[in-house]
Amino acid sequence: MERRIVILGAGESGSGAAVLAKKLGFDVFVSDFGSIADKYKELLDRHCIEWEEKKHSEELILNAGEVIKSPGIPDKAPIIVKIKNAGIPIISEIEFAGRYTKAKMVCITGSNGKTTTTSLIYHIFREAGLNVGLAGNIGSSLALQVAEDDKDYYIVELSSFQLDNMYEFRANVAVLMNITPDHLDRYDYEMQNYVDAKFRILQNQKPEDAFVFWNDDPIIRKELPKYKHGKLYPFAEEKHTGAAAYTQEEMIVFTEPTPFNMELEELSLTGKHNIYNSMAAGISANVAGIRKETIREALKSFTGVEHRLEKVAKVNGVEYINDSKATNVNSCWYALQSMKTKTVLILGGKDKGNDYNEIAGLVKEKCSGLIFLGADNSKLLDFFGEYGLPIADTHSMQECVEIAHKMAKSGETVLLSPCCASFDLFKSYEERGKLFKELVCKL
Ligand code: ADP
Repeated sequence: MERRIVILGAGESGSGAAVLAKKLGFDVFVSDFGSIADKYKELLDRHCIEWEEKKHSEELILNAGEVIKSPGIPDKAPIIVKIKNAGIPIISEIEFAGRYTKAKMVCITGSNGKTTTTSLIYHIFREAGLNVGLAGNIGSSLALQVAEDDKDYYIVELSSFQLDNMYEFRANVAVLMNITPDHLDRYDYEMQNYVDAKFRILQNQKPEDAFVFWNDDPIIRKELPKYKHGKLYPFAEEKHTGAAAYTQEEMIVFTEPTPFNMELEELSLTGKHNIYNSMAAGISANVAGIRKETIREALKSFTGVEHRLEKVAKVNGVEYINDSKATNVNSCWYALQSMKTKTVLILGGKDKGNDYNEIAGLVKEKCSGLIFLGADNSKLLDFFGEYGLPIADTHSMQECVEIAHKMAKSGETVLLSPCCASFDLFKSYEERGKLFKELVCKL
């Protein structure tokens, strides 16, 4: 059944892939083991696409010519094992949609900074007046855009899970921000498997393509010689030469024919990690031929992304910052590193095998108190218990915000940057961040 496409998971990417496949004349079936959100049911119904929820009917799935899998479904899921045993190819929605568009692809991956950098690049391209779409983990699915309103460029955020099921897709500009341990539970606790997944962003690159990457990342430097890639555009600290660099005061992008520099204070995003994000975005835009004046203005006017070092409010002289998207230790490190005052740090949630040693030094230097927010905080209590800092053990956002309000003194900052996923107490990091903001605003 070459023309039968089965889609597993009817979220943003799955339902978009279904619409595109239907439009292309495939026999399409969508199956979701959970329940499907109403808006996606309506979309599927509107396109007369067959679907099922709360089950996977094997007889309707194992006859597929190809399966498109949501990045959220792990390889160990029983249905995936059966599909593999049946020899049916499994691809991602991006792989599928990429076959049916001629648009140029600017693709961003890394352990941290993907959404920020993707949004920043998209913002610059829009300011430059280009016909551009935002896709991948954010925005509407690539497949739906290709089906309904194809663009000249797509700025695509790619997680390692998406890359896992990509084979022929080609990134004209590939951006690799950094590689630090994350999601190891999905990679048999083998760091190399995760690293290999990230480097899949380079597969199929041609010499005329571009590879933008953080040259100070030891893993990226070590792995790079193993791969074929387009032209290299490294960004790094001042002592390196490359496509962009930064000093204490400024960021320089070595655009052709003349470089341009920006004072760090002019950048709309603050914190060292955002200098990297801004450099990567500046290079990518330049590679696409966008004028440096446009890039400069766009890097000034970008308004930031929700749940990433997002300022919430100042209450009784205390600044509250929502960094709920910091779901691993490295992103919390960058958040803490950018704090300019003493900080009450809120951390905890679903631990993905975290090693808190990475933030130990910064916690000692910057924190005036710690609040743990999770179903089970015992690992955090064990690790930070001896630090001599005020510590609170909380199990709801309400309790957490009340205690933060009491603990933080005027002039300090309360930072929600949890190092952990949210699923023990919340539906998502978005829900966690929104609730934090809501309760802070009621203080
Ligand atoms: P991702 O999409 O990769 O998860 P985000 O842009 O959503 O990344 O940022 C997630 C968190 O990671 C932010 O809250 C911030 O604290 C941190 N962060 C952002 N950019 C970087 C970077 N370049 N390096 C390290 N940490 C970063």
